Amino acid sequence: MTNTTETADVVIIGGGVMGCSIACNLALTAADHGLRRIVLLERDTLGSGSTGRSSAAIRMHYSTAVNAELAWRSLQIFRNFEDIIGGECGYTRTGYLVFAGEEDLPSFRSNIATQQSVGVITDIISAGDAAELAPGFAVDDAAAIAYEPYSGHADASGTAYAYATRARSEGVTIRLQTPASAIETSLDSTTRHGSRVVAVRTAGGERIETGIAVVATGPWTARFLAPHGIDAPMIATRHEVLHFRRPLDLVPHHPGGADIGNRIYFRPEGQDLTLVGNGNHSDVVDDPEVYAQRASAAFIQDVWQRLARRIPPIADAELTSGYAGLYTNTPDSHPVMDRIDGVDGLYLCSGFSGHGFKLSPMVGVLMAELIGNGATTTMDIAPLRFSRFAEGDLNNAGYGFDVLA
Ligand SMILES: Cc1cc2nc3c(=O)[nH]c(=O)nc-3n(C[C@H](O)[C@H](O)[C@H](O)COP(=O)(O)OP(=O)(O)OC[C@H]3O[C@@H](n4cnc5c(N)ncnc54)[C@H](O)[C@@H]3O)c2cc1C
Repeated sequence: MTNTTETADVVIIGGGVMGCSIACNLALTAADHGLRRIVLLERDTLGSGSTGRSSAAIRMHYSTAVNAELAWRSLQIFRNFEDIIGGECGYTRTGYLVFAGEEDLPSFRSNIATQQSVGVITDIISAGDAAELAPGFAVDDAAAIAYEPYSGHADASGTAYAYATRARSEGVTIRLQTPASAIETSLDSTTRHGSRVVAVRTAGGERIETGIAVVATGPWTARFLAPHGIDAPMIATRHEVLHFRRPLDLVPHHPGGADIGNRIYFRPEGQDLTLVGNGNHSDVVDDPEVYAQRASAAFIQDVWQRLARRIPPIADAELTSGYAGLYTNTPDSHPVMDRIDGVDGLYLCSGFSGHGFKLSPMVGVLMAELIGNGATTTMDIAPLRFSRFAEGDLNNAGYGFDVLA
């Protein structure tokens, strides 16, 4: 155990895609706010949490304006990633279909209007048009189908690494295998009430003096914050993903998409695979380091059938792999991007459920604005404030579709 002290302007805890995006965006805007000494601590390796298991679907279909706008603005960064950040994020444009059943129609239509109101390019298309976009799909049972021409997917680990690489080149220090053990606070001498961040301690005995700590610890968040007296209503839940090798003569290609009534999302992977996940199964996990990482027989049977309802030739496809990862769920399936009242200099960025990856470019931009300038200017993120849980002012999570990837 070492006992060293260093100083930093900001310590970011967690090297998932959020921590890396925040570090990079803070460094890129350092000339504006002067926070130049930035340290990122990661307990294991970059992307070793939810990010490394992410399906990395990029879609705009949300029930709230804040999520749709975050996704839409992030998409513009994914599309120009090499110029804006550098490196490869793996953005692949496939288009995205959303299938709605009869009972979902009112919410579906109003969600599309909400998405269009923040600039998202999406529209309801005919079953015939959907069949042309997705050969081999069953489309006639859907009450309505929406299409997002610019959506698709990317590479979640690659994106995190690209942000980390740019962050390093801008002077950020990234420490791997370095768990933060505690955030040290002291009574605020100015206000005489509340406290302020003075240091972050690591499990290896280091003490990094800093006035700003950013908690971006994904599924570890509630456990990490609890000893600090902060009750973050976030639970880790386990979700499985499968890959099938599809028959290319029957389903040569297809867009990404989601089937609301059938509770599945899917996307193409590489040349001949189809990835599928679903939002039904959500086993709560107490310790994010201990959970079953393989796909289960029950999930395979259930989700294979669900996918085959939408893509009938999948019934005879080859299952090539399956695995599980953790979401970080909040009561309204929306994240928290905020400062923590009563602890000056403490910021929280977590709770992205199964849909954070696609938001990560704007999460970094906005957290850098919040931390560096005291408030966001690019867009209003008040619906993502921490106090909404205590206020009982939750975001509308629509028909539950928001929890899908
Ligand atoms: C199976 C699955 C499928 C998904 N599919 C999609 C999708 O299709 N589209 C989409 O947009 N999103 C999807 N998501 C969600 C998305 O991946 C997450 O929202 C996103 O990766 C969250 O990033 P994060 O940085 O907040 O968390 P994480 O990636 O979990 O990063 C947190 C990091 O903090 C580190 N850490 C924890 N505690 C400490 C500590 N004390 N000190 C230092 N480091 C610490 C962890 O090791 C970890 O690396 C999916 C997630 C899963 C699991």
